[in-house]
Amino acid sequence: MTDRISHWIDGKPFAGAAQRGGDVFDPATGEVRAKVDFAGEHEIAQAVAAASAALPGWRGTSLAARTRILFAFRELLVARKHELAKIVTSEHGKVESDAAGEIARAIENVEYACGAAQLLKGGFSENASTGVDVYSIAQPLGVVGVISPFNFPAMVPLWFVPNALACGNTVVLKPSEKDPSAANFIAELFAEAGLPAGVLNVLHGDKVAVDGLLEHRDVKAISFVGSTPIARYVYETATRNGKRVQALGGAKNHMVVLPDADLDLAADAAVSAGFGSAGERCMAVSVVVAVDPVGDELVRKIAERIAKLRVGDGRKPTSEMGPLVTRAHHERVESYVDAGVSAGATLVVDGRGVEVDGEPGGFWLGPTLFDHVRPEMPVYTDEIFGPVLSVARADSYEAALELVNANAYGNGTAIFTGDGAAARRFQNEVEVGMVGINVPIPVPVSYYSFGGWKDSLFGDSHAYGPEGFHFFTRTKVVTSRWPDRSHAGVNLGFPKNS
Ligand code: NAD
Repeated sequence: MTDRISHWIDGKPFAGAAQRGGDVFDPATGEVRAKVDFAGEHEIAQAVAAASAALPGWRGTSLAARTRILFAFRELLVARKHELAKIVTSEHGKVESDAAGEIARAIENVEYACGAAQLLKGGFSENASTGVDVYSIAQPLGVVGVISPFNFPAMVPLWFVPNALACGNTVVLKPSEKDPSAANFIAELFAEAGLPAGVLNVLHGDKVAVDGLLEHRDVKAISFVGSTPIARYVYETATRNGKRVQALGGAKNHMVVLPDADLDLAADAAVSAGFGSAGERCMAVSVVVAVDPVGDELVRKIAERIAKLRVGDGRKPTSEMGPLVTRAHHERVESYVDAGVSAGATLVVDGRGVEVDGEPGGFWLGPTLFDHVRPEMPVYTDEIFGPVLSVARADSYEAALELVNANAYGNGTAIFTGDGAAARRFQNEVEVGMVGINVPIPVPVSYYSFGGWKDSLFGDSHAYGPEGFHFFTRTKVVTSRWPDRSHAGVNLGFPKNS
């Protein structure tokens, strides 16, 4: 018997017609652990209707009451984070300590949203013109759709949902069909925290559910995170339908190592950021750019560290790296190892023969290292999204920068150096949205905002933080004068300030 995972609509589980569904794997065994329902027209309509019906009550709920629910949710999330981490590991495969890290970063976003009363304050200009006051009010957009990827099934929904709710919107969340259970757990915790029915709904499914949200006239905005082709499609389709959209896409993150860098620290960072979560992070380092003459020594140090990594079932505390998420993804990632070899890159460590502490049926691929990767090779051009790290060589800082800036993606990047002037020059010249200086995974804290440049983000708002609040509100500016006789009389001229 496998579990069945259904939608969460109007404050309770919603089975729907369940005409279509998908398999949810346990990636460490390769077995199907559950079946998830895929929404059709009926379920989409029900979810949006529930969110629409809940909107007047929720947008009219005081800031104090909304914030209290967010605080209560935060407490429940802290209390039950281990349970949630286990759910993430069971469907995603990442090791439990890594899942706990994802939840810790998610909690930061809930804490940020708890500051709504301060963050939603408008401006007030007394006597902007004689006897006239001008002020601004930030109001919710209405029903918003959140569409999330498989790789952070708890954190990415919580990049958006708390801020959207804090701003007075109601939400339909469409999580990844590969690891859907975390979203239901989150919705249940929100209900326990006192969130009224219909304010947060979870709609499971695939393209049909996504298209339903993109086309629904009552959905006013879409926050999307996923691969670049789908992000572009979501942006184009939803904007064509008149919605506000932020669509975060894929990545190919470069870590530049200058000759003066501490090579042990750089090798530690490359291995941690390259193979954490089996490389299934949009901020994973996938290309190390070694600036001459440090390439050979750096590759040797990275390979030494890889040899000590323990690959295994994420539920075992000894495992440092888990399996890939699905069989199909495993096959795709493995095909890039073949492609790298065919293209002439040097295969320094081959993860295909890795020794694993887990079931043989799991979707295993060990850490893989290529050296002498060139920009025209598929291992360089494509986002692999697995434990495959490429090293490219550059003969100068300028050549390294040119490589990073020529890449179509611009999500994250890092520079490793002890030279402050070089780091400062890099932060100024690099065309990437998030930059680390001796920090390999520069995910901004919750009170900044997260987002890449170029093909890594479509739309103009980054996720969470101040830009998140901006995205989930629209501003009204009120110009007010209380009647007095000083402005009596007809005047057809355009109003001037006096
Ligand atoms: P994906 O694009 O396959 O799926 C993302 C979402 O889109 C899912 O909810 C999925 O159901 C839906 N979807 C898939 N195909 C669709 C289609 N044809 N039409 C409409 N909707 C569709 O991405 P994924 O494999 O789940 O996640 C990995 C990708 O997400 C990587 O490319 C990674 O870089 C990216 N990502 C980016 C960020 C970021 O902040 N930029 C963060 C996390 C992940």
